[in-house]
Amino acid sequence: MGTDRSIEYQGPCLCGRGTIRIDDCEVDHAWPTAIPQWYECRIECPTCSERFSLQRKGNRFVLIEQSVLEERQCREQVAKDKAAAILSDQEVQSVIGQFEALLGAQRSVAAIYRLLSGAGLESCAEGTFRRHWQSPQAWTKNWAKPKSLLQIFGVVGTSTERLSEMLSELRALEEHAFQPPEQYGEPVYVLGR
Ligand SMILES: [Zn+2]
Repeated sequence: MGTDRSIEYQGPCLCGRGTIRIDDCEVDHAWPTAIPQWYECRIECPTCSERFSLQRKGNRFVLIEQSVLEERQCREQVAKDKAAAILSDQEVQSVIGQFEALLGAQRSVAAIYRLLSGAGLESCAEGTFRRHWQSPQAWTKNWAKPKSLLQIFGVVGTSTERLSEMLSELRALEEHAFQPPEQYGEPVYVLGR
């Protein structure tokens, strides 16, 4: 079992001292497989590969500057740090604690399920929920995330004014972080042309 590869595109790199190469790859057997065909791209030039990454965007192969990718990674990290800061916020921690106590005070797993699904915090079937239920602490560890905090605050009955502010800051950071990185110049190659 291996790979059949053929050159889909080959051309000069930006500085002209090396090449950019895109291979069309296929598994060399007929058995069903998750990914029977894919492309591999390489910048065969030390200067250009240090500066650029070659990526497929739909049917286009584009260059993206490494510095742009690094900056995007930093923005993602800032958004992740913000999400972690919200979760470890004192008020949020206190509300999560109250929520766990409330879950712990329910008389049955069925009652916990009703409470969670009624608040829009569980969407699975009750049977599935029962099989996976462990403890209030295990539930909040898995599911008390920024996107579920508004509902959790609602159940506990805490004002969401401050939380909403923190969440909208997070949303702004995430929107900024997940914008697609800008490509450099024209596409190197377009499939099906
Ligand atoms: Zn080059």
